[in-house]
Amino acid sequence: MKKHNFSAGPSILPQEVILKSSQAVLDFNDDGLSILEISHRSKAFIDVMENARALVIELLGLEGKGYKALFLQGGASAQFLMVAMNLLEKKAGYLNTGAWSNKAIKEAKNIGDIYEVASSKDANFNYIPKGYSIPSDYDYFHCTSNNTIFGTQMKSFPNSPIPMVCDMSSDIFSRVLDFTQFDLIYAGAQKNMGPAGATLVVVKEEILGKVSRTIPTILDYKSHIDADSMYNTPPVFPVYTTMLTLEWLKNLGGIKAIEEMNELKAQVMYSEIDLNPLFKGFAVKEDRSLMNATFTLENDKLKETFETMLKEAGISGVNGHRSVGGYRASMYNALPIDSVKALVEVMSELESKA
Ligand SMILES: *Cc1c(COP(=O)(O)O)cnc(C)c1O
Repeated sequence: MKKHNFSAGPSILPQEVILKSSQAVLDFNDDGLSILEISHRSKAFIDVMENARALVIELLGLEGKGYKALFLQGGASAQFLMVAMNLLEKKAGYLNTGAWSNKAIKEAKNIGDIYEVASSKDANFNYIPKGYSIPSDYDYFHCTSNNTIFGTQMKSFPNSPIPMVCDMSSDIFSRVLDFTQFDLIYAGAQKNMGPAGATLVVVKEEILGKVSRTIPTILDYKSHIDADSMYNTPPVFPVYTTMLTLEWLKNLGGIKAIEEMNELKAQVMYSEIDLNPLFKGFAVKEDRSLMNATFTLENDKLKETFETMLKEAGISGVNGHRSVGGYRASMYNALPIDSVKALVEVMSELESKA
């Protein structure tokens, strides 16, 4: 039986995408070959790549605005370095909102001077810093839109006088934003798009070519743009599956439609966390993530009972990250509201038992 999948990543995909992609593993386009064994230079796959890239730009509302979508490898973690390699001449400003921001800062420090414009470390990253200013003489500003581990999310973005780079690994395609405010967006596929193995980069071309260093070819966005995201063998299967997820999203009504569903799921989840005296939310209310709800049990003695009940209800993947503890319900685009209701039901059942 299919479980309620709250995994933080790799995570749930729409069931129809799983079915279509498994069919393509057996026989892609009824052509007698598996998607796993065709050339990435075949017309069939070039069409997939072009369609996936076009869907990204279309869904984000970036058509005709000078952006290119790329599917690269190395995860969001490789982007921590690649962003700096391509954009950092001297100094850059980073907003430190948790574990992933920290890693981004650490890698960029290999390339130049990195300044934290603000940090929420003082409260174990349970909030998003506000009211900071971004120096106009820096090369770029970097932020993390959704903090997967801590369960916080930026509800608005600063008016940046310099190019704005955003790690959207865990909330891309989940809510309506003016995506033109960003100059570079990156995201590992495995949270809201597809299986692990592909990394999406959306870059405004005009910000490139401004650093004096020689960038190794594989790390240069321009080589990937010039080669239509096929500089080397792309992750064929993850790109195909991502394309299917983007088609699913488009058929659903795009980001606007999924945003409404995501808001409803989060509302159901957080009202239980707030109303049930056995549980306590981790993130401050105004900065709560619509994607990852973090919470703890007030009384540790109920842990075993709660976890047994979760298991019996077929609920999977709600354990919190080790740096926060407790629980984390990841409610990515593909998670049905019925899964959230199933989790909330277990929480309220625990209350009636306690
Ligand atoms: C998961 C995650 C990453 C790391 O992604 P990899 O693809 O494993 O490198 C980076 N940033 C955020 C916000 C994440 O959620």
